[in-house]
Amino acid sequence: HQARTTRSGYAIFDTSWDRRDRQRFRRLVDLGEALEHGDEICVAYQPQVDLTTGECTGVEALCRWEHPREGLIPPGDFMPFAEQSHLIGPLTEAVVAEALADLASWRERGFGGDVSINLSPGLFRDPDLQDRLMAHFRFANMDPQQVRFEVTESGIIEEPNRGINTLAAFRSRGSRISVDDFGTGHSSLAYLADLPVDELKIDKHFIQGLGHAWGEAIVGASVTLAGKLGLDTVAEGIETELQRDKCRELGCGRAQGFFTGRPMFRADFEAWLGLQ
Ligand code: C2E
Ligand code: MG
Ligand code: MG
Ligand code: MG
Repeated sequence: HQARTTRSGYAIFDTSWDRRDRQRFRRLVDLGEALEHGDEICVAYQPQVDLTTGECTGVEALCRWEHPREGLIPPGDFMPFAEQSHLIGPLTEAVVAEALADLASWRERGFGGDVSINLSPGLFRDPDLQDRLMAHFRFANMDPQQVRFEVTESGIIEEPNRGINTLAAFRSRGSRISVDDFGTGHSSLAYLADLPVDELKIDKHFIQGLGHAWGEAIVGASVTLAGKLGLDTVAEGIETELQRDKCRELGCGRAQGFFTGRPMFRADFEAWLGLQ
């Protein structure tokens, strides 16, 4: 057995692990260190645009890891194992802290939008989650009203009681709750009506089907369902003008995709928005 110590504790790995296990383990140790040291974890912001007015209503905060040796690592390559470890808490707090500080500075300069934060289901197991997040709001002098929390359908179902209680508590403080990747989970539609949610983010898979009968049927039905339940809709992954126009025709409220705005680091987003 070999052991490696980090400032937050120590970890042991078994020599029978294969290369992939060791790589994953190495990443986890690196991520723990990155979170202790500070500036390797950063946030990219992707605009959400009102499909009627064209106005930017807010941004989604998307986590990035600027690894000293490996370069920029996308969340798909570290979020899954962070979610299986205790690091998901500190990682989420790092994103929240940076996003709230940036939002505060943008709002001082006249930006009227909000920020969407992704929450992993495992976070709901932490009884202190609400207090921790509220401390970040106070520190940034921001109001929960300026934040949306995104959770996937399967995420809510994974931790139904604690998940729903936490989301309901934030909602009563004025935060909006979004169902991320809508249509890809396994929740029943009946269940959706009882959840404390405000909007559906229609998954990019269905948006990519626009221009085909199946895609239009699914996006159209999702928008209609959302409307009947009193929920807003955001189309995720709009890559073409045709997809944007179809979403607008089908009555979708907002768009988020490479066509309307790529994820950008702070300075690029400020330039994109025309902030002084
Ligand atoms: P998500 O929350 O569904 O975020 C949207 C993803 O779609 C982002 O990928 C974004 O870059 C990508 N995207 C946006 N527009 C387009 C488009 O037009 N075409 C295509 N093909 N893709 C588009 P990203 O940034 O790689 O994030 C992947 C996932 O990682 C996110 O999916 C989310 O589930 C997770 N994630 C990212 N940041 C965080 C975080 O801070 N906390 C948690 N828990 N999860 C996060
Ligand atoms: Mg999301
Ligand atoms: Mg999504
Ligand atoms: Mg996702």
